[in-house]
Formats: sequence, C-alpha cells, structure tokens
Amino acid sequence: MGETITIAGAGLAGSLLSIYLARRGFDVHLIERRDDMRRHKLSAGRSINLALANRGLRALDAVGLGDSVRPLLITMKGRMLHENDQLHLQPYGKNDQEVIYSVSRPGLNRLLLDTAEAHGVRISFNQTLCHVDVDSATITVRDNVSGDQYQRECHPLIATDGSGSLTRRTLAFSPGATSAEEFLEHGYKELTIPADANGDHRIEKHALHIWPRGGFMLIALPNLDGSFTVTLFMPREGETSFASLDSHDAVTDFFTRTFHDALELMPDLATEFFANPTGRMVTVRCKPWYRRDKVLLLGDAAHAIVPFHGQGMNCAFEDCLVFDRLLAGESTHAVDWRSVFALFQAQRLDNANAIADLALENYIVMRESVRDPRFHLKKALSWELEKRFPKAFIPRYSMVMFHHIPYATAQSRGVIQEQLLEELIGDNDTLDHVDYASAKTLIDTRLGNVPESA
Ligand SMILES: Cc1cc2nc3c(=O)[nH]c(=O)nc-3n(C[C@H](O)[C@H](O)[C@H](O)COP(=O)(O)OP(=O)(O)OC[C@H]3O[C@@H](n4cnc5c(N)ncnc54)[C@H](O)[C@@H]3O)c2cc1C
Repeated sequence: MGETITIAGAGLAGSLLSIYLARRGFDVHLIERRDDMRRHKLSAGRSINLALANRGLRALDAVGLGDSVRPLLITMKGRMLHENDQLHLQPYGKNDQEVIYSVSRPGLNRLLLDTAEAHGVRISFNQTLCHVDVDSATITVRDNVSGDQYQRECHPLIATDGSGSLTRRTLAFSPGATSAEEFLEHGYKELTIPADANGDHRIEKHALHIWPRGGFMLIALPNLDGSFTVTLFMPREGETSFASLDSHDAVTDFFTRTFHDALELMPDLATEFFANPTGRMVTVRCKPWYRRDKVLLLGDAAHAIVPFHGQGMNCAFEDCLVFDRLLAGESTHAVDWRSVFALFQAQRLDNANAIADLALENYIVMRESVRDPRFHLKKALSWELEKRFPKAFIPRYSMVMFHHIPYATAQSRGVIQEQLLEELIGDNDTLDHVDYASAKTLIDTRLGNVPESA
C-alpha cells in the first residue's frame, strides 16, 4: 500500500469513491462531520429519496453493488401528471426497460458505508474539516465530540464535502481560479404522503407524481414502506411563495386551491410544513477542480446542480467511475496525481456544466411544459424518430437518463434535435403529415450517428 488517501465527506460520492479506491488497493481514510447515519436517524428535510438512473446504477454495478442495491429500488416508469382532477401517465422511455428508480438516500448511503468498511476503509465520524491548506494538502479537523482540533497532511485530499464545500471555497482563492455559486430563487420543502392502513401506497407506486402548476410544482417519489416523499418547489419570496405560506390556515388554503387531491392524502400537512426546513438549491461552476497533486474536488463539491433532472447523485457516481478508470494501470505507490486530476477535470468539467444547464431547463419542463400539448407531440415524434433511426436520434431526456452519452454531447445534440422537431411538426397539431424520408435526410445531415458512449 502507498500513502493514505483522505476523503473529506462520507456522503454519496465520498463513500462510493472510497470503495473504488480501496478495491484498487489504496489505503483510504474517510472523514465525515455528521454522526454515523447507520446509528442515528437522518433529520427531516434532506431529500429522503432520490431518482437513480442508468449512470448511477452502472457506477454501483461496477463495484459489485448491483445485487445489494436493486432490492432498495422502486421502478418509476414515467411521470404521473395530476391536473384538472385527471391523472395522466407520461412514460419516460420508449419501452419498459427505459425507467428510473426511487431509492432512499439514507438506505443507499448506509449500504455504501457498510461496503466501504468491508473493503478496509477507515471512517471517522463527527470530524469536521475546518481548514484546508490547498498548497500542502494539510487539513485541520475538529473532533465534534471532544472539541479537539488536529492537523494532518494528506496524500492527497479528495474533497467530497458537498455543495457548500469548504475545500472548493478555499481553492477559489488560488491564482487563476474561478468559482460561482448561483442560488435559485425557488426553494423546496419535503412533506409526506403516509402509507395506507395496510402499509400500501395510496397512489400509483411505479411513477414519479407531478402536480405542475406553472410557477411552482409538487412532486412525489415512492418509498419502500408504502409512503411517498413529497417535495414542494416554489419561489422563496413573493405573492405565491414560501414566505406567503406563514400560517397553518395559509398552507391548508393553498393546498386546497392548488393540490387538493394531494391534500387529501396528507393528514399532517400543516404540522409537517412548519416542522421541516425550506431548502435552497444551488448551481456550482468552478475551475480548476484541483491543486497540483494535492487536492481534488469531486461530486457536488465540484459541480452541485439543481435537482430537476435527477442527476446530481448520478453525475457524482459517474465521477467515481471515470476517476477509477483513470487509475487503471497506476501503481498505488507511485500515482501521478497531478496528471490524474488534470485528466479527470478534462473529462468531466464540460459535462458537469452541461448537466447543470439541463437541470435548470428541466425545472421549466416539469412545472410548465408538461402541460403543453405541443410538448407531448414533440415527445411522440421523438420516439417515432428513435424507433426509425435509433443510431442517430435519441430523445434528449433518454440520452441523459438511459444512456452513458456524455452530458455535453446530449446537450449539443439536444439543441439540434429540438430544431428538427420544430421544423418537422411546423404548425400542425398531429404527426400525420410528417415525411420520414425527409426527416432521415435532415437527421443524417445535421446529426449523424450518436458517437459511442463513454
Ligand atoms: C432536494 C434534492 C433532491 C435531489 N434529488 C436527486 C435525484 O433525484 N437524483 C440525483 O441523482 N440527485 C439528486 N439530488 C442531488 C444529490 O443529492 C447530490 O448530487 C448528491 O448528494 C451529491 O453527493 P455528494 O457526496 O457529492 O454530496 P453530499 O451528498 O452532500 O455529501 C457531502 C458530505 O460531506 C459532508 N461534509 C460537508 N462538509 C464537511 C466538512 N467540512 N467536514 C466533513 N464532512 C463534511 C456532509 O456531511 C455530507 O455527508 C438532489 C438534491 C436535492 C437537494
């Protein structure tokens, strides 16, 4: 074994990365400011469940976790739209294989921590990173139980300390560094639809439910215990906002007017509303992600994104897979960390910025576009084009969720595809007129075949 790699942050990215590194024979020490979540319940209001897609699943499969993870998953075949007292299931993909999964954040994190320990990773909880010297990778850590502080030099430090990363904020002072944290004017609040008396789901289990309302929306993802975690996304300030929902009556009245079928399923709504925090969402874009051979950012620490494409964790897991591949062939005693870090950034930075843009766009899709008949027409044409020309035309959502096509490629091809769809549909409100021979010519000319996946 070579020197010890320190990973700061035992969230989703840090714990999966530690498994990858331990499997390669590295000595890994993981430090985490929170208590061990396997012994203590996670506090409410921190995205209790998440959408896991192919990218994330592939990264879990690659370390042999597929069989342990799958029992934790609930398949979501599409969006169940709740509007005008009607329910409408909009499939995510072209067939039953193109689905996404709901998974419990703490359930998944616990599995990763158990697996990391089983691979020999040392995990220290209640240890807060409170200072980083990025030139020497010397960290100052506070033991939250004793209050003592100690210093240690890392070889190297990989910071997976999340969207508010202390390491990123420190790195931002390095010569030539840029770093931007863009907070959304909308916030989120987590609520619950409990299971019914038999412990079953009260609404369709295999769907991600959405109540799209234009300027705001409610979503619900299923849990294994029969409940749903419900999230309200809306402006933080203004006429219809979290600030305006300032009493039990105001909350109940608002839900009665806008989400009355959901309200019927949420007996503790008003109490829960005020018990749970209102979360903030941030997009992080920074560069560089590393300092010489000393420090690297990975996961949300490098590229936090808003949650509307369900890709933050998936992207962080893909980071781990890419990072691991860069270590193939390296001896644990003599890794050229600087080159590995530089290659990692080169492969991931543009892709992270692309998924950041797509995630912001998808908020409009979820709360607004899904109500527009033209959106559904374009979706139908996308699937038809994919069926006829599968090597060249893959709907953008599918490229992101069901494939391993780099995010930046999905973004750039998505722009061209959107123009094609607009042109092919024109002013029509059906697809009867579409000439698929000319569609093929346009696709061949403007798109060509999808490049091989990463
Ligand atoms: C409301 C919401 C819904 C989401 N839904 C989805 C979804 O459906 N699908 C999806 O793919 N992604 C989703 N995400 C994004 C996903 O949560 C993140 O991308 C993912 O958690 C990133 O993992 P991470 O390990 O980089 O960061 P985190 O999971 O935030 O982990 C960071 C860890 O570092 C620790 N830490 C922080 N600072 C310090 C310090 N100073 N010292 C020591 N330890 C420290 C923290 O305690 C934490 O354990 C969602 C996010 C939100 C907010």
